[in-house]
Amino acid sequence: MVVRSQASVFAEGVVNTYLSSAQEALKEQYRNFAAQSVAPVAASLESHAKDLKEVLQEIAQKGYLGINVPREYGGQSLGLLPLVLFVEAVSCFEPGLGLTLSNHAAVIELLKRFGTGSQKSRYLPALARGEGFGTLAFSEENAGVDFSAVASRIEKSGNKITCTGKKTLVVSGDFATLVVVLARLGDKDGDLGLYLSEVQDSKACRVQARRAISGLSSAHINDMEFEDFPIEEGGQLIGASAGQMALYALDVAKTVLAGAAVGLSEAAIASAVDHARKRTQFGVNIGQFQGIQWKLADMEVAATGAKLQTYRAAWSHEGDLSNFARHAAMCKLVATNAARFISSESASVLATCALDSNHPLTRFLRDARALEICLGTAEFQKMLLVSELAI
Ligand SMILES: Cc1cc2nc3c(=O)[nH]c(=O)nc-3n(C[C@H](O)[C@H](O)[C@H](O)COP(=O)(O)OP(=O)(O)OC[C@H]3O[C@@H](n4cnc5c(N)ncnc54)[C@H](O)[C@@H]3O)c2cc1C
Repeated sequence: MVVRSQASVFAEGVVNTYLSSAQEALKEQYRNFAAQSVAPVAASLESHAKDLKEVLQEIAQKGYLGINVPREYGGQSLGLLPLVLFVEAVSCFEPGLGLTLSNHAAVIELLKRFGTGSQKSRYLPALARGEGFGTLAFSEENAGVDFSAVASRIEKSGNKITCTGKKTLVVSGDFATLVVVLARLGDKDGDLGLYLSEVQDSKACRVQARRAISGLSSAHINDMEFEDFPIEEGGQLIGASAGQMALYALDVAKTVLAGAAVGLSEAAIASAVDHARKRTQFGVNIGQFQGIQWKLADMEVAATGAKLQTYRAAWSHEGDLSNFARHAAMCKLVATNAARFISSESASVLATCALDSNHPLTRFLRDARALEICLGTAEFQKMLLVSELAI
């Protein structure tokens, strides 16, 4: 048996869950940006006192909306792992931004993989520059994790294609310019398709008022109603079945969103450690108590596992994608579960301080729960994993 040294394994890229020095440098750059541009406005983003679009413009100006857009279309060609690192950095302060960026990234990856040459040239530069913003409109009132229940309808008459139906919980619904809609051709037995739709609020595409969701509240979440909404000729994405393409888009979004869960977890641990160092009870720092130490140790273990699984998923997006779906499901499951556990344990360490509505942890507790639900619940990730096992 050939036993490879750890160094050679890394050099060959067989195991690549750790960051290269270039990626570490990017991480540092992203953290500096987040500390300067996101930290000061995080609370007001959640309360909507600060306009999310202003922060997105700042992100765009730095080129960070195009991290995963190919250079030929005005992006940085850096791939999913750097994007995860960026989302991790901003989500240490505001995980709702991570949700917003995850849907945008999914639309970019769908275009890269399944878009035609003209769709790529038309949309990718605008998405990279922040002149356009992308999102996914899959869910409906009766179609949550179950896409087979999607009832939005596509009608074709000659060259004219229209969409009619109601979509729920669309992230960035009130400012997205490019929405990928999951809809069914004709009646309830018709084939599902994914349709690229350039949208703006109009009679044919009514965007409802922002929904008040508990958690990830800086994200704008809207319902959308389409009525004979015109889809451009060639707007249907082809190259795989609608189900496969929709799941692929969600795999991308989930991996990026897991980065948000990792950032949230890091920030929650930092709060707990800081408090454990400073707070004195029974004449000693509470960090001296084994009960508190074990909480911190468990939090660190959960956070590290989540981070490794998330980077692993992003890395598996490079190359032939054969393991991507599996890793994406696992990282969504592991990272969001860790975020819920860690924010809850951190709240135990902070005790009354965690109940201070000005403390970021109060937001993180809500955010962690929402992270677990959006882009497919924990149960749904397990269903996907089981289907990959083909038992
Ligand atoms: C903050 C947020 C943002 C979102 N953004 C978007 C977006 O941009 N675009 C979009 O299209 N959607 C979006 N969604 C919708 C989201 O993807 C759905 O809410 C999610 O998939 C869950 O759907 P549901 O709430 O209808 O749960 P349901 O599908 O009704 O499920 C209810 C419960 O039953 C469980 N369940 C269902 N079927 C099974 C089964 N076979 N076995 C075991 N358990 C099962 C589920 O896991 C869950 O626990 C967003 C949701 C949230 C909360």
